[in-house]
Amino acid sequence: MFDVILADGLVLDGTGAPARRLDVGIRSDRIAAIGNLTGASADRRIDAAERIVAPGFVDIHTHSDFVLLVDGAAESQIRQGVTTEIVGQCGHSCAPWTGLAAGARFFGYREAGVDLNWRSFGEYLDRLEAAKPALNVAAFVGHGAIRDTAIDRGTPEVGAMMALAEAAFDEGAIGLSTGLEYWPGIEAPFDEIVSMAKVAAKRGGLYATHVRNRDLYCAQAFAEAIDTAKLSGARTQISHIQPKFGAPPGAMADALAAIDAARQAGADVGFDVIPHEWSHTYVAAMLPPWAREGGTAATLARLRDADARARMKINPAPIWRLVEARHWDRIVLLDSAANRDSVGRTFAEIGARRGVDPHDAAFDLLIEEGEGMAGLLWTSRNFEDADVCMCLRHPDGIAMSDTMALSPRGPLARAIGSLGGYGWTARLLGHYARDRAVLSLPDAVARITSKPADRAGLKDRGRLAVGMFADAVVFDPATIADLATAADPRVHPAGIEAVLVNGRVAFAAGDGAGGARAGRVLRGGR
Ligand SMILES: [Zn+2]
Repeated sequence: MFDVILADGLVLDGTGAPARRLDVGIRSDRIAAIGNLTGASADRRIDAAERIVAPGFVDIHTHSDFVLLVDGAAESQIRQGVTTEIVGQCGHSCAPWTGLAAGARFFGYREAGVDLNWRSFGEYLDRLEAAKPALNVAAFVGHGAIRDTAIDRGTPEVGAMMALAEAAFDEGAIGLSTGLEYWPGIEAPFDEIVSMAKVAAKRGGLYATHVRNRDLYCAQAFAEAIDTAKLSGARTQISHIQPKFGAPPGAMADALAAIDAARQAGADVGFDVIPHEWSHTYVAAMLPPWAREGGTAATLARLRDADARARMKINPAPIWRLVEARHWDRIVLLDSAANRDSVGRTFAEIGARRGVDPHDAAFDLLIEEGEGMAGLLWTSRNFEDADVCMCLRHPDGIAMSDTMALSPRGPLARAIGSLGGYGWTARLLGHYARDRAVLSLPDAVARITSKPADRAGLKDRGRLAVGMFADAVVFDPATIADLATAADPRVHPAGIEAVLVNGRVAFAAGDGAGGARAGRVLRGGR
């Protein structure tokens, strides 16, 4: 007797091995049998004939830290088969936190009645658990959150920051991330980064880094990440590695060659890639570091000052060279609380509607967003298709979303995390694997199951095998497709038919809305 049988599917076990026609039997939260279960009974039998049955997808890099507290339904991810997310990336995490400057601190922050009463990493994970997420969540501690905490308490002294990182690992963090292109990580010297990565190495956690630069100076930035791995001994993950508009020709191939050479020399360096050509970030990241000093109120005052504003436009290290090159037609407003009517428009359009230069329009939008300026997001066609394909063809390339888990109804209905937010797995499996044969389907599935699970150190997830947790996806390989567009980004993909999290049906075609919310917070060291 089983609770669920996924019957007669083409089972991809997540290792990259070819599909085999098998039944998968689930009892409680684990896979109890794989084989011919024709005669067995089950409370629920899901017909998977001519469908792929795969492990639940593991998204090794998301920014759902705050939005999961607002709404744990996470439909945008569940409906594309994601059953585990790893938050706390790019130096951003919701803890540790001193209680200051909430809106400026938390990626995806919005006024939504969330009680901001946590401070420590363990308290944050407790809050996450209480939000009953539909998917499993593991968390990195962000170096930015640690550095902000140290600054709030006095100075960013390395020993104090290392102690804060140790505490986060004690309380359940499974890794540590940096965001060296973002405030406040941008201020951190190299020796501080190595010291922080040493804590990750000591605790067996992954060190993930959003490197200092991914355009003109990307070779130098990738070298910093590789040197950090060598000097700290940390297992190191270069996040969303694809270079941005303005990178020198050959930058992607050079980076992968440098990684391969480092691995030959014994350093453990890996990388992941967004399976998309559109990049996204928060608009405030366009400001030079000096403009962010002193917190949101100080930043807003500078944005209102004509002289400071003129100087802000001269930024030797802009987050996007598209801004410097004034490609405002390739930059689209993705999320705003104060200017919803401008969401989905290019900054060329937004500037024209306001009768101001698009650069000033971006500054004005920041002012109008006020304390919630971290929630002002934009997206741009910033990546090269050839670079994405090169990463996917590399045998160790992991695919991930860099997005936020949202739902098209409820308090996050109008939010958006990225253009791939509702369809990144379907884009990998449909567009890159099936339609263009950049990689095989079993290989593509491995890039979002066993490989990220192993890299992040998740126990008993990422594979379909007896004894593993019953996180699983049933999809139609013939029809799976990402349907989201810049004009209409909140569309679930085609082809996903059932999703199970810890043995419970989180989504099944025909069931209607409101599947089980059976996700767990996966704490390190347990
Ligand atoms: Zn990042």
